[in-house]
Amino acid sequence: MDKITDISDIRREFPALEQSVNGKPLVYLDNGATSHKPKSVIDLINEMNSRTNGNIHRAVHELSARTTALYEGAREDVMRFINARHREEIIFTSGTTASVNLVANSFSASHLKKGDSVLISQSEHHSNIVPWQMACERYGATLKVLPIDDEGNWRMDLLDSMLTSEVKIVAVAHISNVLGIVNPVEELVSRCHNRGIPVFIDGAQGIVHSSVDVTALDCDFYAFSGHKMYAATGIGVLYGKKDILEEMQPWMGGGDMVSSVTFEKTTYAALPLKFEAGTPNFIGAASLGQAIKFIENIDHTLLLENEKRIVEFMRDRLIKIDGLKLYGNVDNKIPLFSLSIKGAHPSDVAMIMDKMGVALRSGQMCSEPLMKRFNTESMLRASFAMYNTLDEAQYFIDCLKRAIKMLV
Ligand code: PLP
Repeated sequence: MDKITDISDIRREFPALEQSVNGKPLVYLDNGATSHKPKSVIDLINEMNSRTNGNIHRAVHELSARTTALYEGAREDVMRFINARHREEIIFTSGTTASVNLVANSFSASHLKKGDSVLISQSEHHSNIVPWQMACERYGATLKVLPIDDEGNWRMDLLDSMLTSEVKIVAVAHISNVLGIVNPVEELVSRCHNRGIPVFIDGAQGIVHSSVDVTALDCDFYAFSGHKMYAATGIGVLYGKKDILEEMQPWMGGGDMVSSVTFEKTTYAALPLKFEAGTPNFIGAASLGQAIKFIENIDHTLLLENEKRIVEFMRDRLIKIDGLKLYGNVDNKIPLFSLSIKGAHPSDVAMIMDKMGVALRSGQMCSEPLMKRFNTESMLRASFAMYNTLDEAQYFIDCLKRAIKMLV
């Protein structure tokens, strides 16, 4: 199949983009929360729901063989997509949140004790705060926080002094869901590894907007969700280095994660199944494999150039709007903009713009500590995906100006 080389050809693959909302053509700019799905993904989900349905790994019948092949094929797709070394390193979960919880539970059980610490950053999503906080409470450890500067950048000047011998793991986001900043994860991983500290990366936004190579990055864990990268909801991935996953005990028990069960003792299945208790979301996993194939069939330069154009276009126009505050460094970011407007509540702006057909996010964006850092309770966020165009960016700017006129 020829590679897709044009944004309008990408758009044609997404039926959701053809609809009108509130009588206006939809301009969907809430992709940081969840993205739409291309036809090939929708068709596969429909086909599996209506025909190719059989529980994986367990039966000898044909439908089970087909779903197992789709499920394990998707694991190979993920492995290739993030350049992992081994298929055993790809664990299917229900999403980024579940992946963080898996590591915060399993890794902490054998590595965290009273007096130890976990280091996160000040710009984390709640999903990469709360599970670690819970683990710290359970084991009497302390949650330490790497501060950010006024532009939202990690205070890398403070990192080394915070990486004390008590720190047993560092858990940070690749790309902030509020600031859109691409964090210096390579440097962080290298500095942590110099001290023998493993690194967990929350890649919920990173996987969508960068070429992730876990082998080059050398991170110990990398987590992401399918629904933000054009696949179904309820599916996600935890990548973990094989040797670390091997020594971790399973978090959830149940079918498919066992080798042998007696009432006296259970032995566990080998990786990756050790961490995949119960019937997994095999349709979701297959949809993720399909979404990866869809992404791989698009000219990568096209995606990079479109993102760059949108970032520059938005930045140049937003900074000129009176009373508008843009959060975060604008030099090294993905097309995701969080802002506030003097005299207008973000939710009111979002509601007015919804009437104009523009879907935005407003509120705390699951990042309450980050809101506090910027002395605000709420922001308005526009986040773009591969199918968004400069015309849509222009429409967003025009509508924003109209909304501000109505409210301020
Ligand atoms: N981490 C980041 C940076 C996110 O943006 C999100 C979702 O917005 C999550 C974690 C949680 O992802 P999920 O809700 O898919 O588990």
